[in-house]
Amino acid sequence: MITEFELGDIVCMRKPHACGTNAWEIVRNGADIKIKCTHCGRVVMMDRLDFIRNAKKRLYERRNDDEQTGNK
Ligand SMILES: [Zn+2]
Repeated sequence: MITEFELGDIVCMRKPHACGTNAWEIVRNGADIKIKCTHCGRVVMMDRLDFIRNAKKRLYERRNDDEQTGNK
């Protein structure tokens, strides 16, 4: 279970996808959550509670690029 997540995070679910990968990108964050398999591109939608229960951990947190690029 995870408690915090943001759009663009890569998460690991309890059950790996049928394609064998267990890394999903959050592509929609709202009342419903949409996650996309990073290997085969399959998109799965579930409600927020289901997502929270089924997500195991965040593998990667999206970072702000602002400081890195220095562009203004
Ligand atoms: Zn897949």
